[in-house]
Amino acid sequence: MADRILLWYRNDLRLHDHEPLHRAVQTGGQIIPVYCIDPRQFGQTRFGFPKTGQWRRQFLAAAVADLRQSLRSHGSDLILRWGEPEVILPDLVRTLKITAVYGHAEATSEETQVEHRLSTALQSLGVPLRLVWGATLTHPEDLPFSLPDLPDLFTRFRQRVEAAGQIRPPFPPPAALPPLPAIDSGEWPQELERLEGDRTPDPRGVLAFQGGETAGFARLQAYFWQSDRLKTYKDTRNGMLGPDYSSKFSPWLALGCLSPRYIYAEVRRYETERVQNDSTYWLMFELLWRDYFRYGAVNGGDRLFHVTGLRGIKLPWTVDWPQFDQWRRGETGYPLIDANLRELAHTGFMSNRGRQNVASFLTKNLGLDWRLGAEWFESLLIDYDVCSNYGNWNYTAGVGNDARGFRYFNSLKQSKDYDPQGDYVKHWLPELAALPPHLVHEPWRLTPEEQRRYGVQLGVDYPRPMVDFFMSIRQQEQRYQEATGQAAASPRRKKSRPPRSE
Ligand SMILES: Cc1cc2nc3c(=O)[nH]c(=O)nc-3n(C[C@H](O)[C@H](O)[C@H](O)COP(=O)(O)OP(=O)(O)OC[C@H]3O[C@@H](n4cnc5c(N)ncnc54)[C@H](O)[C@@H]3O)c2cc1C
Repeated sequence: MADRILLWYRNDLRLHDHEPLHRAVQTGGQIIPVYCIDPRQFGQTRFGFPKTGQWRRQFLAAAVADLRQSLRSHGSDLILRWGEPEVILPDLVRTLKITAVYGHAEATSEETQVEHRLSTALQSLGVPLRLVWGATLTHPEDLPFSLPDLPDLFTRFRQRVEAAGQIRPPFPPPAALPPLPAIDSGEWPQELERLEGDRTPDPRGVLAFQGGETAGFARLQAYFWQSDRLKTYKDTRNGMLGPDYSSKFSPWLALGCLSPRYIYAEVRRYETERVQNDSTYWLMFELLWRDYFRYGAVNGGDRLFHVTGLRGIKLPWTVDWPQFDQWRRGETGYPLIDANLRELAHTGFMSNRGRQNVASFLTKNLGLDWRLGAEWFESLLIDYDVCSNYGNWNYTAGVGNDARGFRYFNSLKQSKDYDPQGDYVKHWLPELAALPPHLVHEPWRLTPEEQRRYGVQLGVDYPRPMVDFFMSIRQQEQRYQEATGQAAASPRRKKSRPPRSE
């Protein structure tokens, strides 16, 4: 009997560099691509946020629609089904007389449990589930160590991976695909669009992000080849305003619309055809961070989601809803923090610099349970990636791999270093638009006369700081030291003067 393969699409919504698709085509058999819209992904997080919030949902819907369009233009189609893959796929296997199910393996428990349940259901039907690894730049089989021996420090991981120098070439996309048997192809459920009401994209966003492989390719084309920004990436990547300070590849990477191996191949081509420098290297360096978090997640299992984190560190976190609400609404009274949190809420995106600062503020100034922040990001970020998100939050909270004691971001200094004129802050906080650069990051210093002059009434138009910055840092640091038995803070940090909060 000829092969009839069910191609299970998950966070790999592409045709290029898709090993399961490539292998299925090689069998010469029939291929039936399917995507399950899993209701569990549209429930709530532990703290009660929509698990896949509106921005993510829109991006996902567009990515799935784009994949369907590409498959159709190759002579195939994408079957859409609402339901749990471990139920839907065995049903399809039975009715379509499928001989094997192909797909990509995932890393964390929610997804791997689905794989186990599916595998069991398929076993009883005598049909194999063939999953391969395909979300990272490196392949685990090529690493110069076994995964349980993953280095504790990113730098050591990177050095050893770079020395091994093994990155596989991307798999080519198929030229054409076999037609589907007669089957209802299904539709994207309209009710998902309505869950939170319609939201039109905020024109202030860094980019009009559109889900899908086609838009992912276009973004790479624009960033590398048209605007030639790759050659300055290392100098600009800490920016916060505008489309081109960084690649913005993350949303497409998260849903697998772009493969890291394809990006790597394009960087290599750029190095040959344009320039090879620190910036071209740095983009690959960042992609290795992404790999590191994924491998760390595989190794750490569910510890990644525990409050004590991958390293099992007990810290006295609190869950204070009024404080958290101020944080998530962008009403902390610290303009850099507030601008970033409003950008996230209005667009589903935030720069890396912003993420580091707001995460530090939540954990190191407010001492709030870091999982509140991680789940808020999970709900909103269009580039939400379970390993990168929870890995970075572990790291920032000081409970993850490579986390080094009590480190915090001095967001006042960060504001001046990365937003010296206050352009970013004013972009998201129009109420501060009239303030001169020396005041825009410290509105609490405004005298009553200045408040009148610049049209900002503190506590009315813009909040006063919710905590004293350095006093709150010292309090949290002390709690951290008591919990971990660590040495006292560095003298340099102790000397920092707290700003007056009025
Ligand atoms: C608290 C916190 C939560 C985060 N959550 C996510 C998340 O859910 N999904 C996500 O993709 N990234 C996450 N990041 C990492 C990083 O902020 C984003 O990858 C980056 O801002 C995306 O923008 P870009 O594509 O323009 O990045 P670029 O600077 O252009 O980097 C290129 C690519 O490298 C990878 N990368 C860069 N920095 C990191 C990093 N620190 N960790 C992992 N990968 C990285 C990303 O895939 C990124 O697309 C988080 C960072 C923090 C501090």
